[in-house]
Amino acid sequence: MKIKKNDTVRVVSGNNRGMEGKVLKVLPGTGRIIVEKVNLIKRHTRQTSQSDKGGIIEKEAPVSISNVVLVCPKCGKTTKTGIAKLADGRKVRRCKKCNETLSDET
Ligand SMILES: [Zn+2]
Repeated sequence: MKIKKNDTVRVVSGNNRGMEGKVLKVLPGTGRIIVEKVNLIKRHTRQTSQSDKGGIIEKEAPVSISNVVLVCPKCGKTTKTGIAKLADGRKVRRCKKCNETLSDET
């Protein structure tokens, strides 16, 4: 999986094209992710008590991982990641544009 939680991604196709946000959740096995403030859907909530009036809340719907690209936190560009192996054997993701190490692969 190239995209991980807390990554910043940009949507490159579909209705939300051009939007950027932080990955809140990766949905395992589905190829989908939840991105903060992207692909918001309105959801009606029912009145459950006197104090809770119900109403409409906005909630992120999953987007396909194939519709987003990673935005490098170091250089700020949309990028692809490569895998680099450190001297101690750890694998890390590396930005292919600026060569900065992003985070652990595992
Ligand atoms: Zn970079």
